[in-house]
Amino acid sequence: MSASVFAAERLLFTPATPNAGAVPLIYAFPNTYSVGITSLGYQVLWANLASRRDIAVSRLFTDTGEPLPGAPELVGFSLSWELDYVNILTLLESLAIPLRGEQRSDAHPIVFGGGAVLSANPEPFADFFDVILLGDGENLVGEFIDAYQDIRGGDRKAKLRRLAQIPGVYVPGFYEVKYTGATGAVAAVAPTEADIPPVVTKQTYRGNVLCASPVVTENAAWPDIFMVEVVRSCPEMCRFCLASYLTLPFRTASLEGALMPAIARGLTVTKRLGLLGASVTQHPEFHILLDYLSQPQFDDVRLSIASVRTNTVTEQLAKILAARGTKSLTIAVESGSERLRKIINKKLANDEIIAAAINAKAGGLTGLKLYGMVGLPGEETADLDATVAMMKDIKKAAPGLRLTLGCSTFVPKAHTPFQWFGVDPGAEKKLKWMQKELGRIGVEFRPESYNWSVIQALISRGDRRLSRLLELVRHYGDSLGSYRRAFKELGSQLPPLDFYVHTNYPLSQTLPWSHLQGPLPDATLQKHLAEATSQF
Ligand code: SF4
Repeated sequence: MSASVFAAERLLFTPATPNAGAVPLIYAFPNTYSVGITSLGYQVLWANLASRRDIAVSRLFTDTGEPLPGAPELVGFSLSWELDYVNILTLLESLAIPLRGEQRSDAHPIVFGGGAVLSANPEPFADFFDVILLGDGENLVGEFIDAYQDIRGGDRKAKLRRLAQIPGVYVPGFYEVKYTGATGAVAAVAPTEADIPPVVTKQTYRGNVLCASPVVTENAAWPDIFMVEVVRSCPEMCRFCLASYLTLPFRTASLEGALMPAIARGLTVTKRLGLLGASVTQHPEFHILLDYLSQPQFDDVRLSIASVRTNTVTEQLAKILAARGTKSLTIAVESGSERLRKIINKKLANDEIIAAAINAKAGGLTGLKLYGMVGLPGEETADLDATVAMMKDIKKAAPGLRLTLGCSTFVPKAHTPFQWFGVDPGAEKKLKWMQKELGRIGVEFRPESYNWSVIQALISRGDRRLSRLLELVRHYGDSLGSYRRAFKELGSQLPPLDFYVHTNYPLSQTLPWSHLQGPLPDATLQKHLAEATSQF
């Protein structure tokens, strides 16, 4: 891809001209330009850096980049998809930076990372970074850069020691992990120096202006989209859900103070609007936003909504979506079993799901895609039957609506009440069974790869010993077979795959991220877990 992609960008902010002594910084996205520039988080952080006169930032992607400084002082990565770590290693090599923090000297830049994957559980990747930024970037990045400016001339260790003092800035090299044995669990994680905080707390931004695209381009994966973050986190707290638990509390953008002005600004450069957030329709003034977007001046706007809570699918919502270019709607139901939905704290009744389908059809949408999961803790065979029965009922209630059921396998995520559960080894069989049963009643079934869920679980519950495995696997390809091969090669240097993926951990076990504090204390997660298991 040619560098002219940068010339095609329409900017909604004015980049600063860097000072003569500005810090040379490379801010990389470990995937192609098209993928990276579609990440609102990457866009916003880049604009934040590019607005500072004391930073000279150059962007780098796997297929293109802006002119790079000869001697960058800071190199940052935003990691939003686990397997992109392979590209981080490749980009580090291309910049002649050693892969592991411990191999770097004063001559090398400080390598920092942020983004959803690293905020959840950075441990499998910890050895590759000098600094990891945990939580919301709004204030954190500025504090990180300000602190760096203060100690710019110091030696590497002194710089890192100072940076480790900032809340939310995690310097993994200052923490020693002890294990109960070479193939055992983590026994303890403790700082190696007295002035390093024993626990790093993820940062929470509390303003009511959330993110909006600072750049719009035809070369994004969603061409010409202007994205605006309507809500952050989700108040529902389904017990498996990282999108809710990791980013609590639920926050909403001010309608008049943030959303409407941002949308008006964005629509001066494009006609494609994306409303983003884990539960967009739960914004308390969402109906006013819908009325606003229903005005005739927005008739030619194409509207996409990231997530719609099932019981907010009204005929009005379906109508405006249909009128603004959307054909089908996606809702997450997790299961057709009310018993199982209670266990996972999904406050939704089958009647509401059926009503959503009826409303979607009445509003003029032609398709409805439901999302479910198999292998949820507490799941029984009858729960799978209930899902098939529910799909049958929806079909009957909204004939002619194209129905799809996407289905993944439950994957435990750090900082959620289900972090202690392993992946159900029977899930693959369950997916096959569902495929057969739903085929019989003419519902399209789209299962997510079970093997991919296993890899996700490995990374989401992994510890630092996995970094050696990840270095090996990158040369083998990203199939589950490649991971098995690498486990075999490393033999007794680390626990087996099953330990990370399928084992239910006792509550007493020290988790690899126990020194990284999420929004809720462990005691609350355990309470939510107990509420779930009491209903098994
Ligand atoms: S409703 Fe969706 S986003 Fe909200 S907690 Fe449940 S699964 Fe997560």
